[in-house]
Amino acid sequence: PLRIELLGLPLDALTLDETVRVIVDRVERGEPTLQVSMNAAKYVRAVEDPLLRRFIRRATIVSPDGAGPLWAARRFGLRVPERVPGVDLMMALLPEAARHGWPVFLLGARPEVVERAAAAAMDRWPGLQVAGTHHGYFGPDQEAAVVERVRASGARLLFVAMGSPRQERFLDRWFDKTGVVYAQGVGGGFDVLAG
Ligand code: UDP
Repeated sequence: PLRIELLGLPLDALTLDETVRVIVDRVERGEPTLQVSMNAAKYVRAVEDPLLRRFIRRATIVSPDGAGPLWAARRFGLRVPERVPGVDLMMALLPEAARHGWPVFLLGARPEVVERAAAAAMDRWPGLQVAGTHHGYFGPDQEAAVVERVRASGARLLFVAMGSPRQERFLDRWFDKTGVVYAQGVGGGFDVLAG
């Protein structure tokens, strides 16, 4: 009942709080969880991009990041309670990670931005373990090595800020190899976190 179909793609009609609760429960149970945030641009891209469509169908949680999905859902008479911006979701999950002792890995953005984001997160949520960071500017030949860094870090949660569709392609290809329980693409989220 909570998962609806919008423009041929799944969408989870959950509030931000409900989304956090679902993710925390799943991570506690060790159930692999992949989240994707939908905005108008991603719906448009999905029309022409079968890989992106497959990734969205594969995701455990598909959230309405922008106002576009909410507007479209209403037009079709579907109930979607509120926007769940990907960056807000990350900001809500980081204190949960701190509370539960789940190490996190921040992957993406420019080197100084991801470093500042990690420092800001540890400052804001005492006890947060940042198991590792890596910038988001690497070629296809370096992907396996980056994934190995994530796996070796022992991170439980992975946030990927490499923009769309790069972060979705990366997660589609590598999620299963990262060893994390939860992964989320956050677009420009580290720039926000870094302040
Ligand atoms: N980014 C990256 N690698 C790339 C391209 C972009 O890590 O090859 C980072 C960029 O530094 C920024 C983030 O991805 O922190 C989001 O970029 P953008 O705003 O273009 O993506 P959007 O949020 O619009 O999807």
